[in-house]
Amino acid sequence: MARNPKERLVSHPPLFTTFKPAGIGGMKLETVILELDEYEAIRLADYEGLEHEQAAEAMGISRSTFTRLVERARKKLASMLIDGLKLMIDGGSIHFKENMYQCLDCHHFFKSTIHEEKEKCPLCHSEHLVDFAKGFGHGRCCHKKARKNEC
Ligand SMILES: [Zn+2]
Ligand SMILES: [Zn+2]
Repeated sequence: MARNPKERLVSHPPLFTTFKPAGIGGMKLETVILELDEYEAIRLADYEGLEHEQAAEAMGISRSTFTRLVERARKKLASMLIDGLKLMIDGGSIHFKENMYQCLDCHHFFKSTIHEEKEKCPLCHSEHLVDFAKGFGHGRCCHKKARKNEC
């Protein structure tokens, strides 16, 4: 099956997904959704400081697509700051390259390849884990992509 060019590669799931201005009840706030590919564009360009060329390659998209993506993401972040919107990170047509877990007992965060499903916390050996990729509706799809060397 040919790769859907709209499916972007995201390094790993974000740990934090909801942001809102302090001191205002959540109900009154308008919500803006930052999609996972937009989050990744911000992470690569503004957090890691990559050139658009390199960032586009990391996500498996063209440079011009990346530029549009990062501009759209910045606009959302700006209006969140200026207009006091609630921001949630979710959705987008993506696959993860790596997974993140959190242990519910010792609260330790840890990374894992997308291939292996972790069952125990490496620190306290608890089996109560949050699987972040799964939380965003990913897992097997990402694994398949990774196996086909598309990541
Ligand atoms: Zn633990
Ligand atoms: Zn996936």
